[in-house]
Amino acid sequence: MDRLGRCAADGCTAIFADTSRTARQRYRSHPCANRDAVRRHRARRSASSATRPAVRLMRRWLTRPPGCGGNGPVGRRTRA
Ligand SMILES: [Zn+2]
Repeated sequence: MDRLGRCAADGCTAIFADTSRTARQRYRSHPCANRDAVRRHRARRSASSATRPAVRLMRRWLTRPPGCGGNGPVGRRTRA
């Protein structure tokens, strides 16, 4: 049995028949879900923009730790 649901995407008033077994479908279609996901993602980003630079710095640090001068893996033996 189909249930009628309203699309949860912002600004979308589409009505759809929820054919999912769990009746947890929130959007009429995938484009609607994507659009809303992007909107929420942007909102979250702008809300926590103050912490972003630190995270980016940390990422760079993790990919290239300080002290690694490009001489190969840490702990590699060098001939004296
Ligand atoms: Zn929609």
